[in-house]
Amino acid sequence: MKVVAVLLAGGSGSRMGSERPKQFLEVKGRTILEWSIRAFAQHSQVDEICIVSRTDCIDDVKNIVTKGSYDKVKHVLPGGKERYDSSLAAIHTYNAQKEDVCLLLHDAVRPLVSERIISDCIEALKQYKAVDVAIPTTDTIIQVNEEGVICQTPPRPTLRNVQTPQGFRLETIRRAYELALQDPGFQTTDDCGVVFRYLPDVPIKVVEGETTNIKITYPQDLLLMEKVLE
Ligand code: C5P
Repeated sequence: MKVVAVLLAGGSGSRMGSERPKQFLEVKGRTILEWSIRAFAQHSQVDEICIVSRTDCIDDVKNIVTKGSYDKVKHVLPGGKERYDSSLAAIHTYNAQKEDVCLLLHDAVRPLVSERIISDCIEALKQYKAVDVAIPTTDTIIQVNEEGVICQTPPRPTLRNVQTPQGFRLETIRRAYELALQDPGFQTTDDCGVVFRYLPDVPIKVVEGETTNIKITYPQDLLLMEKVLE
């Protein structure tokens, strides 16, 4: 089984309020994207890395890869408008592979992903065709309607906060998206959601995440990241 880590770095990061997309902000001497590359590059079971970037940042990504001699990076691809367009760019790139390929689709803005999480995902993929990473929700979650009035209060013990990587056998995620793209109402914010909705018979194993595996979203997350790296 060939393990490919896909770093999704095609977003604009508007919630950070900076001019540069957040994956290019530096923390402790390296960009957030580079910290993510290192997490997978240093993992002995990851064979290859594919980075999906905004079209206007492809040269910046290639510079980071060249300067750091990240030899496992085999592709730097242009992403798309939505996150799932960026996932699809990677899926299409590996479609023609004859080998048994697994993709670990990872938000490039989760640079603190641990070796343990990556190992657990790869181990689970030996038995399952789809794997998610999540932690128990600490906040009570409510669902609101268009008027901002509560319409659901799901019981907290059943809820999880989803992280990445999300791992898939290539054929499974390819097929899920093939079905999704035939649905005119298709929308998603992650990849496991696509398998869950369009391939309901495929069990998705959930691997324990970590509270430090944060998605760098707001300026205060950078301070937390610095502390964790210390
Ligand atoms: O927007 P969100 O916070 O869900 O983004 C999660 C990850 O997906 C980020 O690393 C972002 O760069 C990436 N992304 C992407 N292509 C998009 C939108 C987001 O690769 N069109």
